[in-house]
Order: sequence, then C-alpha cells, then structure tokens
Amino acid sequence: MSEHEHAAADESTTEATSEKLVELAKRRGYFFQSSGAYGGVGGFYTFGPQGASLKGNVEDAWRDRFAVAEGNMEIDAPTIMPEPVFEASGHLDGFDDMLVECPDCGESHRADHVVEDNTEYEDAESLPIPEVEEVIAEYELVCPSCGAGLAGQAVETFNLMFATNIGPGDSDPGYLRPETAQGIFVEFPRLKEYARNQLPFGVTQIGRAYRNEISPRRSIIRVREFTQAELEYFIDPEEDDPDLERVADVEVTLYPAAEQNAEDGSPIETTIGEAVEEGVISSPWVAYFLGVAKPWYEGVGVDMDRFRFRQHLSGERAHYAADCWDAEGEIDGNWIELAGFAYRSDYDLSKHEEYSEDRFTIFKQYDEPKTVERATVDPDMSYLGPEFGGAAQDVVDELEALAARDREAFAGETVAIELEDETHEIPVEKTGFAVEEQTEAGEHIVPHVVEPSFGVGRLVYTVLHHAYREDEVDGEQRTYLALEPEVAPTFVGVFPLQSDDDLETTAREIVDDLRGAGLSVTYDDSGNIGRRYRRQDEVGTPFCVTVDYETLENEATTVTVRERDTTDQKRLPIDELAETLSAIRDGELAFEEL
Ligand code: AMP
Repeated sequence: MSEHEHAAADESTTEATSEKLVELAKRRGYFFQSSGAYGGVGGFYTFGPQGASLKGNVEDAWRDRFAVAEGNMEIDAPTIMPEPVFEASGHLDGFDDMLVECPDCGESHRADHVVEDNTEYEDAESLPIPEVEEVIAEYELVCPSCGAGLAGQAVETFNLMFATNIGPGDSDPGYLRPETAQGIFVEFPRLKEYARNQLPFGVTQIGRAYRNEISPRRSIIRVREFTQAELEYFIDPEEDDPDLERVADVEVTLYPAAEQNAEDGSPIETTIGEAVEEGVISSPWVAYFLGVAKPWYEGVGVDMDRFRFRQHLSGERAHYAADCWDAEGEIDGNWIELAGFAYRSDYDLSKHEEYSEDRFTIFKQYDEPKTVERATVDPDMSYLGPEFGGAAQDVVDELEALAARDREAFAGETVAIELEDETHEIPVEKTGFAVEEQTEAGEHIVPHVVEPSFGVGRLVYTVLHHAYREDEVDGEQRTYLALEPEVAPTFVGVFPLQSDDDLETTAREIVDDLRGAGLSVTYDDSGNIGRRYRRQDEVGTPFCVTVDYETLENEATTVTVRERDTTDQKRLPIDELAETLSAIRDGELAFEEL
C-alpha cells in the first residue's frame, strides 16, 4: 500500500550502484533471494551472516532510541491472527492494491504502478478503478514484462493479506499480520493495565509483517515478508502534549502536500519547532517523532543529503490515517518510503471496542467529580412478561436505549418502541422512567494513536546504498562500505601478517582480548594482507589490526591499526587496544586523535 517512488533529480548517476550493491550483498553475505536451490521465489530474501548482523544492530539501535530512551514498553506478539481482528481493523475489506493481468503472458502487475511509471500521474493509487482503466486505454499502456497491450483489461482489487487456516479444516480462518501494529492494538486491554491505566504511554514491537505484494521489486525494498519496527503511542488528545522543546531545533527537510501539489513546489528546509509553529506539520505528536527520527536515521548512517520527510497527499493515506508523513531515502534517483508517521486518531481502538468483547477505553478521572442528570428505566416485569413473553428483555433494552437518547418520548401517557418493525405502545407508568442526578468521577475515553512505523529491511538497504563507495588505493580499484561503527556487522578484523606460528598465536590472543571487551571481531589469515583488507573494506569493517614482525621484535607490544575509509595506519600498544577501540566504537574517541 501507499508505495511511492518519486523520481529524484539525477537518475543516471547512481543507477549502477544498486546493481553493484546487490551483487556485493550476495557475494559477501548481506542478503540474497531465498530458496535459490528451488529456483528462488519472488519477494522473499534471506539476510546472510553480514546482513543479519547489520539488521540486528539496526534493530538494537531502534530499540535503544524508541523503546528504552522514550520509556516505552516492548512486546512480541504472534504473526498469525484470527479473522475477526482484521474484520475490525479494516484490512479484510480495505487492504487492497490494484491488479491488472497481462492478456498475453499472464503476468500480474500493480495497475497504479504501470500508470505512474508511464504517464505524468504521480498518485494513481488514489484514482478510482474505472479511471485507471481509462488511463491505461488512453495511453495505450503495455505489459512491463512482455510488451502486450493492456487496454481493455479489467483492473481488479487484490487483498494483500496471506490467508491460512488455524487448526484442521477451514472453519477458523487466520491471516499473517500485514503490520505488527494489530498485535499491539488487540492487547490494549491488558497493556493499559501494565501502564497503570495512565495516558500517555507507548508500546513497541519489532517483528515480521507479510504482504502478498502483486509485483515485488527492487531486491529487498519491496518484499512479501519483511521486518517492521513500530511504536504505537497512546494519548488523550485533549490533555497530552509532547515535549517539543526536546526536538524543536532539529533541522529537517520537509515536503508538504501543498508543495507537492504546487506547480513549482519544492521541499523546504526548516526546524521541527518552526514547522509546528507555522502549521506545516499539524500534529505536534507527529512532529515530535519526526524530530526523534531524523537524528536517529543519521546515526545509523542514512545520508542526510538524501533524506526527507514527505507528507502524504490526501488520496494516498491509508484507511486509518488522519495525517501521515513518510521518511524517505533516495536510492538510484527514486525516493523510497523508509517509515510512515501516522496520526491514526481513535480509529483502531474504537474498531476493536466495537467488534470485540473487551474494553479499549481508559477511565479518565475528572479534576472534580461532576453531577449529571441521567434518565433511567426500571420496567415492571410483571407487566412486560405476560405482554411480550420471550421478547420482554428486548423491550427492556429498547426502553433503556430510548431513555438515554430521548427523554421527551416518555413525556406522555404511553411511550412507543420499535420491535422487529412493529410499533408497541407501553404505558409510561410501567417503564419506571425517572431522571436522577448522578455524581461521576470520570469518563471512559478511547485513546488516540500516533504511530511511527519503520521498515527495517528497506533501511538496511538504504544504509548499505548510502555507504557504498569506490576509490583507488595504491593504484588499485577498491570498493568499501563506509558503515557507521554502531551498525557495522564486524567492528574489527584481526590478521597475522603471514602464516607464522608466533604471529598467529599473538593474533589469536588479541581476538580473545577484544571479544572479551564486547567487540565484534573476525579473524582472517587467508590470502595476502592486501586481499584481507579489501575483504573487510567490502563488508564495511571499520578497523583492521595486523600483527607483524615488528610486533614480535618489540616482544609483542604494538600492532598496526588501519582505519577503513582513509586507510590510515597507526601503531598501538596491544594492552591498550581493547580500551581504545571500545572508546572509538562508543564515540568517545576518534581514530585521528590517536
Ligand atoms: P506502511 O504500513 O505501508 O506505512 O508500511 C510501514 C513501513 O513498512 C514502510 O515505511 C516500509 O518501510 C515498510 N514496508 C511496507 N511494505 C513493505 C514491503 N512490501 N517490503 C518491505 N518493506 C515494506
């Protein structure tokens, strides 16, 4: 859903990077298409040893910032949920994409993408289906796979959820969750207890989500199984305000809907504080989380010159969102959605309140108890019983509802109620109608939800893409990944200069020492030293330590430490190595300062 890849300026210059990156990713163990032995299957990818490590580090960084530092809870819910959940959430009816099938090759495509890729329409998803069919005919659009004409082909809606059966038989349908969010919403009645029934509070979840995308593409950017990191932040819209001071000075590039719609519109440079003051971002809560997210993205290695927040156009918003901004990263000239920041209002909890047996409200205490008038009924069952038999309780329910809705109905001798399309007149004296004063301590409210929803795989891809570099070292072409030390799969590679027992023993001791200090270390003694450096450069290892003969001559006191990006080398004492490298990893020391 809501997938937008707006073309950025210089398409050509970076086009090749993705191809090279995907090749590197496969060769070096970042990611590759799954089940290759069986021909592979579209939209499913395996993160290899490097990729799983990078992804895990990104998730840890997200958890540190969005759960721990914000004081939010984290949960881990199942990925399969029963059908009623998605009836309530609206996904069963509304989580659709537009599909057009090629009459020749039978390949299915997203109709809105076919339109967007080949016409000036930028937001085809918001068009009604008949209009999309008309555009396809008018522009004589063709199948992206085989080139056959698509005019006249029916465009259909296709629900993106993967369906399954829970237990034997098909009486209990279930679905793989299309977003981790529902796993949080359905547990709200319990989670609010853990939050001591106090708003605001936030619940996070990092986990798998599944969408049966019509045409998965761009390697891990659009897949059918992916990891989301989501925060559902529950607020009382009348009482709770974010602490905007904390992020007011964060500088952001914003691309508001108005600028996108204007002929000569363009993204604007501003701060979170200014954007709220000037009404560019209408929800202070959304603004707050944009302000938290921007430095976080920078910290994990997204290039801030290729990053922006774009507001959804009105037709683009998901069925639940009142306002939404996307974090976008630029890849090969396209802007890719990395995260959505949606103000979901009370949509989700109201739905679950309506569809389920449980309570999705919070009791909100008034500052002072309030005295209110309540109309009540206390019907005379010795009259209703004989008169209505088995339907007597329905009559009571109707009378109660009517008293709450319309006191005037009880003003005459009789009151009229509707029961199965029939009107019945009931003497008011038999209803026990009364208006009473009641003192109330508070009311039950449905909290509103602000949702930062991050895609982890896409972010991993973007981080790799933005870190991809080529240069020349000692007259040789080199490829390296300038990954941030915080997320790099390996922090330091340790090599003995040559195959030599003494060098190897010392190198192994250093490995143990560094691992003992909590650093992620790889040991490599195969091939010449230059090749080993290139290997580590290519997977983005920030430092390499080499044990050479000078080490042994000095009775094993110093080693060479090489920094990845500059290839600068320094000699450091072995007994200070763990401490120094740990300080660099934690950002307390820079390599240049050594
Ligand atoms: P959405 O609920 O559509 O706003 O998705 C939330 C986030 O999940 C997006 O910002 C993406 O980063 C990620 N995401 C959504 N669909 C996919 C997909 N098919 N493949 C990979 N990531 C996705």
